[in-house]
Amino acid sequence: MELFLRGFIPVFFMVLCMSLKDTVSESIDKHQDELIEISKKIHSEPELGHQEAKASKLLVKNLKRHGFKVEYGVAGMETAFIARKGGEKGPAIGILAEYDALPGIGHACGHNLISMSAYGAAIGLAKVIEKIEGRIIIYGTPAEEGVVQNAGGKVVMIEKIKEADSALMIHAGNRWGSYSMTNARESFLVEFHGKSSHAGAAPEKAVNALEGVLLTFQGINALRQHLDKDTRIHGIIKHGGDTANTIPDYASAHLYVRAPSMPRLEEIYTKVKNIIKGAELATGARSEITQVANTYANKIPNKTLSDLYRVNMGILGVEWPEEKEPTKSGASTDFGNVSQVMPALSGHVYIGDVVLHSPDGAKGTATQQAHEATLLSAKAIAYVALDLLTEPGLLEKAKQEHKERIERQG
Ligand SMILES: [Zn+2]
Repeated sequence: MELFLRGFIPVFFMVLCMSLKDTVSESIDKHQDELIEISKKIHSEPELGHQEAKASKLLVKNLKRHGFKVEYGVAGMETAFIARKGGEKGPAIGILAEYDALPGIGHACGHNLISMSAYGAAIGLAKVIEKIEGRIIIYGTPAEEGVVQNAGGKVVMIEKIKEADSALMIHAGNRWGSYSMTNARESFLVEFHGKSSHAGAAPEKAVNALEGVLLTFQGINALRQHLDKDTRIHGIIKHGGDTANTIPDYASAHLYVRAPSMPRLEEIYTKVKNIIKGAELATGARSEITQVANTYANKIPNKTLSDLYRVNMGILGVEWPEEKEPTKSGASTDFGNVSQVMPALSGHVYIGDVVLHSPDGAKGTATQQAHEATLLSAKAIAYVALDLLTEPGLLEKAKQEHKERIERQG
């Protein structure tokens, strides 16, 4: 009898889950034109971080239409939202949407597709969530790109995100996959304040702020030979003066430091701050460092969730070999901070050989191929959520793995 039950229970949950997945899939298919329209609309009107009024309102309006209860304006951020559907009891699965664009090149990071996928998963799950225990929470997370002040909406709303037991999202790019890590990151502005003077007639009276910036870059370049291959330091000169025959009294640079772990990030960031201090001493121009984005943590991978995404994508006809080891990315995301506090999945979605963060990347995030792939990802994310909500022990397995990885990290 016991043996019979042992076999019967998993089969029962599998059959239940398959019929729920069919319902989810049908709902997403039914709304596919609307989903693509939403992606195109967000793509055609790119908004910078914390200014994503149109995109966030568009998602909120539609989530409400599908029965979600929405809080709009969350954790002091006007364009953040939380949309819930399902019962109070049982676990909660968070699905995260991003919708900010890059300055000058629009949606070259494909956050329009992240929105489309999260909203697609939401309307699929809306059809079935009342039939099972638990709830889904769609988090609208502003300002993922680290280019605006107070960037990193997920860091700001992390206490709210903690209501979920697990967090899921996607990111478009040039491959399928899901088992990946990202770098921790600091994004900061360096300013030098000097004294201007006639560059030909009285240079001896000047304190050259631009030299402070140039020495900072030179000091960083000298540091490079001592960095491991996963560490990144990069940036741009924001202001280098106004007139070539006036010595600049003000110059600034926007810099990023990225490293595979938080302790390593702190170590490198301290070295860069010392370089800036050195440039100040050498030039006499006063330096000032202002944090631009919140500190992004490295992303902790989760094999349990990664496998779920791969298997569910397989059901949808997209296959790739099992990733035995996590892929390391030099990039960073505020989803890293989420992955530090709960099992988290970022499913990669192949949209062609696009180079993100480039003008061509912006074209690649609104193609038919991109939209077809994103529709599949919406289904896969919804399927993963269903597995976690209905299959006994699965969420606990993902949590246990997360706990072990955090302990190993420390
Ligand atoms: Zn990006």
